[in-house]
Amino acid sequence: MIILTDKQKERYSRQIISPLIGEEGQEKISKIKVLQIGCGGLGSPFALYLTAAGINELTIVDNDVLDISNLQRQILYNESQIGKDKIRSAKEVLTMLNSDVKINTYKEYIDEDSIMHYLKEKNYDFIADCSDNFKTKFLVNKIAVKHNLRCVIAGIKDFYGQIITINPKETACYQCVFSPIETPPNEGPLPVIGVTPGILGTLEALEVIKTTLGLPNLENKVLMVNLIDLRFNIIDIIKNENCICSA
Ligand SMILES: [Zn+2]
Repeated sequence: MIILTDKQKERYSRQIISPLIGEEGQEKISKIKVLQIGCGGLGSPFALYLTAAGINELTIVDNDVLDISNLQRQILYNESQIGKDKIRSAKEVLTMLNSDVKINTYKEYIDEDSIMHYLKEKNYDFIADCSDNFKTKFLVNKIAVKHNLRCVIAGIKDFYGQIITINPKETACYQCVFSPIETPPNEGPLPVIGVTPGILGTLEALEVIKTTLGLPNLENKVLMVNLIDLRFNIIDIIKNENCICSA
């Protein structure tokens, strides 16, 4: 059980006074352990907001070194960190933001075997896909289904994005909606305005928080975001009986 200290009550006072959160909700938030895959455009706001909100522990896996072309959207980083491992810089910044949150970082490109290392280590409440490619999104989904881990997956391109939240035994998964066969191979850098992953990564953090609090979330739904017309459309989806999540 986690009892909030006076300092924590002060720090999180603006969310504690929310009738939808309260001290009880903050105590729930303070217990969340998240495994985050990727720490770029989506991962930056995701990690920042969850750390600011006072989750228990955030484990980030990312294999990249910071490039100047990342700074247009990866708001966790700055010019002084160019050429350095993103995870190292991420840990520095996030720990400075909130020393209450345990930040673990690993420089690795995950695959089905390497992810086991992290899953064996501790019980995560969520796995979040903050990667920039379909292959990793399907892998994260598969891992979530296999290990019955709650999961949030987002994708972006240009001024568009989509996001889904998954409770593997109960709700539709990413593969119920998107087919790994039909997805195009990665063809180099995709166009993107930095605000797009900013919004979608922020929504991923929101989903983790709302799911934890038992508030309405994006289970059995895909939210399609069109930032040109500013349209946010929710599409209801159902679990596919022939999908990996129904086996
Ligand atoms: Zn499925």
